[in-house]
Amino acid sequence: MSNPVISIIAPIYNEEGNIALLYERITAVMEQTGETWEFIMVNDGSSDNSPALMEELAARASHVKTIHFARNFGHQIAVTAGIDHAAGDAVILIDADLQDPPELIHELIERWRAGYQVVYAVRRERKGETFFKRFSAKAFYRIINRMTEIDIPLDTGDFRLMDRQVVDVLKKMPEHNRFIRGMTSWIGFKQTGVYYERDPRHWGETKYPISKMLRFGLDAITSFSYFPLQIMIYVSLGLGFLAIILIPVVAVLRITQGPDFFGGQATTIVLLLLMSSFQLFFLFLMGQYVARIYDEVRRRPMYIVASTTGFNENNKTSDVRSDSAESILEPEA
Ligand code: UDP
Ligand code: MG
Repeated sequence: MSNPVISIIAPIYNEEGNIALLYERITAVMEQTGETWEFIMVNDGSSDNSPALMEELAARASHVKTIHFARNFGHQIAVTAGIDHAAGDAVILIDADLQDPPELIHELIERWRAGYQVVYAVRRERKGETFFKRFSAKAFYRIINRMTEIDIPLDTGDFRLMDRQVVDVLKKMPEHNRFIRGMTSWIGFKQTGVYYERDPRHWGETKYPISKMLRFGLDAITSFSYFPLQIMIYVSLGLGFLAIILIPVVAVLRITQGPDFFGGQATTIVLLLLMSSFQLFFLFLMGQYVARIYDEVRRRPMYIVASTTGFNENNKTSDVRSDSAESILEPEA
């Protein structure tokens, strides 16, 4: 069987109520486009009935392929595994919860055929999401854009099409803390956006609680910006400048007012608290970078595959992904 033209990748983390409809809607669109395609579902350590449903689909249709992780590795890593295994000339990333309407795939492919290497979907509206989620997402992308050198298009998620050229570069980027939408912007090539209205989740609840969102945000910032490290120098200079001004002021007050001019020690305590707070905050930020450096230098595999279905020998890549692990993998046929 020759390689499919389009690879569609969906990360699956407890999505049992979405898989059937997702496949149905994708199939309907792909039949309209007339392209050959494969559908790769990456089970990111689901604990519900999703794996069984995935296998059922894979047994029915040979263009449905599955990857099962040994445990939950996170959304961005699941998508990465899908990209590593994809054989298509173009790869499309889509969420499994139907917040990204599969019907838009048609337009993504059209733009790709018109010569763009990256076609990302821009949300015009977010239906059925809380005010907090909408607000935090909006603020997040605006902050990221100010802080980083790359321009990540506003209000985009991972719903996008990428040409094989871009995918091959992405596969060579080994970082563990991944922010795929930033990485694709960084890669460049001809990019364009198409607009859509983001639907509410078809079934189930968001798998991104606040803690995961914060971590994801820090990954995004630390992968693309040193700004948090650089502001330290400004705060430090500002405080130093303040101290230089205050020294003669205090000296003059001491001479003219006597030793009790400030009352007790309240000022000292407040200043101490303020200083410690600044220092700890910046230590925390530095720690965020250091922890990520540690993640990278350990060179552990990025994910661990427990099993796969449907891949033929040509595009069945490694079961682990790590640049250091290359030597222990079988050479490519
Ligand atoms: N997901 C995943 N691993 C995780 C969390 C999420 O594979 O640890 C998948 C999830 O199944 C879905 C996609 O990533 O297909 C987006 O997740 P979700 O819809 O919960 O995020 P939100 O849209 O709320 O930001
Ligand atoms: Mg969602």
